[in-house]
Amino acid sequence: MFVGHYAPVFALAAARREPGLATGFVAVQLIDLGFMSLSYFGIEKWRANPSIEGFTPIDLYYMPYTHSLAGASLWAAAFALVAAAFTPAGQRVLSALIAGALVLSHWFLDLIVHRSDLPLVHDTDHKLGYALWDQPLIEAPLELGLLFAGFALFMAATKPRGTMGRIVPWVMMTALLVLQGINWFTPPAPDAASFAGLGLTAYLSLAALALWLDRVRS
Ligand SMILES: [Zn+2]
Repeated sequence: MFVGHYAPVFALAAARREPGLATGFVAVQLIDLGFMSLSYFGIEKWRANPSIEGFTPIDLYYMPYTHSLAGASLWAAAFALVAAAFTPAGQRVLSALIAGALVLSHWFLDLIVHRSDLPLVHDTDHKLGYALWDQPLIEAPLELGLLFAGFALFMAATKPRGTMGRIVPWVMMTALLVLQGINWFTPPAPDAASFAGLGLTAYLSLAALALWLDRVRS
């Protein structure tokens, strides 16, 4: 899953000012930011598998540190502690819980689409995933529906500050849809370095765009 991960951030931003959109954008993809960085160094592993039909034709065969439920929970706990440290006393617990939940939401949304490659602890044989990537005609509307629902809540609950506040949301939506199209319809990157480079660039660019969007809506 890619753009669907942003649905919880948009929905949350419709209800609360904190955390900001950019922090939320990093939180919901923290697990993948970790995976891409670790796979660059060969610590976590994937390989292209052209025989797979459907979306994301790659075997994600070794992701014990980021995509096991235990690993993802540790990333969530670490992010929650950082969020608490940056929050005024009195709101720290709520802020930590929200930050942790955003990070962990990644694992549960991945669970719907991944092909039995998500372990519970480290790299145990029993891996989970309901494999909706094998059913593009179900996965695509589901993922886009999640995104559009979250985005609609955000747009309904916020107001533009000036002209840019009307334009930037659609810049964001266009960027999300273009990147999702690339993710779905182009072959996977040929090697670990370009895979990590493209992924990190996409996620961090979207987070930068989220920072801009946050500034122009109130
Ligand atoms: Zn993931």
